[in-house]
Amino acid sequence: MKRIFSLIICIAMLIGLSVNISASHPFTDVKEDTWYSAAVEYCYSKNLVSGTSGTTFSPDMSLTRAMFVVILARAVDNTYLEYTNISFEDVTVGSWYLEAVEWAYQNKITSGTSSTTFSPDKEITREQVCVLFYNYLCSKGIEFDIEEGILDKYTDAGYISKWAIKGVEYAVSNGIISSTSTSKLSISPKMKMTRAQAVQMFMKFNENLPKKYFTISMDDGITQDLRIIDILKKYNVNCCTFMVNTGLYGANWEWVGQILGKPEITHLRFTEEELRSGIYDGFDVQCHTRTHPSLKAYDDNPDMIKEEVQKNADELYDITGIKPVGLAWPGGDNEYTEKTIELVLENTDIRYARGIQNSFNYKLPEYFMTWQPTCSVQDPLLLTYANNFIQADATEDMLFYVWGHGYEFDDRDLYDDFEKLIKMMSEAGDIILVSNTEFYELYKNEIPSWK
Ligand SMILES: [Zn+2]
Repeated sequence: MKRIFSLIICIAMLIGLSVNISASHPFTDVKEDTWYSAAVEYCYSKNLVSGTSGTTFSPDMSLTRAMFVVILARAVDNTYLEYTNISFEDVTVGSWYLEAVEWAYQNKITSGTSSTTFSPDKEITREQVCVLFYNYLCSKGIEFDIEEGILDKYTDAGYISKWAIKGVEYAVSNGIISSTSTSKLSISPKMKMTRAQAVQMFMKFNENLPKKYFTISMDDGITQDLRIIDILKKYNVNCCTFMVNTGLYGANWEWVGQILGKPEITHLRFTEEELRSGIYDGFDVQCHTRTHPSLKAYDDNPDMIKEEVQKNADELYDITGIKPVGLAWPGGDNEYTEKTIELVLENTDIRYARGIQNSFNYKLPEYFMTWQPTCSVQDPLLLTYANNFIQADATEDMLFYVWGHGYEFDDRDLYDDFEKLIKMMSEAGDIILVSNTEFYELYKNEIPSWK
């Protein structure tokens, strides 16, 4: 139940629903039932805005151009303080906004109000804000959608300055701004912005920026998973999906250690009792078929697909109370065909399935039924991939997907590096940790299961 609740909160936050979280800000003039209180909290908790005093936010005060670029710089670039030149005559030495204005100028986010002025104390207008957001996205090469002709519906679209049309089009298309009137659709392009309106726009803008996701899966449901779970719990992380066979309870695959030339390494599956005792409580548990067969052997036998895949799902549902929708292909990508995929989709609840062809990139899957991970947990470059992911500027949504088996941790002594990985990801700040199924739920309307 807790897991479902946290999933709902996570999804709600991602799609921008307001979630009732008690406010941590100190502002007595921001009441909880106002339309902007969630946005004030959002921007305050991310350290984007401070108050006009220790206890006031002044929601109705208008926002100056300087205030705006400072919030933008803080929101998107933590190196902005390194910009210490002065390119405008009206930006004075020692001013609190100098670096942010210079950052915006150097990065072609603003060209000022003339070739020599920025007009820092002038109140910023709605269309100017749209253009600054738009210019920032263009400067970073970030992809976004624009709905052609979306401004036609607005009664005052003709009053938008020519240089601002693209920016306003972007902002309206992406829900950054909405109508200023309920009786008729109005952009009010020259209207000054209040601080309340500004934090609302920043929240929407930030939520629309490309996201970085991290997920893990571990196959087979074997005893080493306990130590993996201990590491995950130490960092309060539950983004690992465990792929379990329900027809092999307690099976001891001694041949795995023998193939590795290390007979002391075990591949021992949990018993049904162990599974029911709550080993995986708080974690995502999905299918790996009942008995780990080569599924393509059943390409003319839908009953066996049901027996191996749907029965596996039903048995897991009986234990976890959550209906599985995901699978790890047993034996990898040579053990299923396009026909197998079709049969699984026709005969089971499964809507995503992971293979083992490491992509070594951070792209989202093209089809959920042939979802390939970034790399294996035993890849010698695991922490390099992690570091590159943390450093990467996201211009589109990104996913870092690590997969493996518990026995590999014993074989290659991976526990320390795995702990480093989990620590890095959980502390990175801008990385969203999701289980395989949480990721599927977030993207199932955008990424098809199959052709
Ligand atoms: Zn397996």
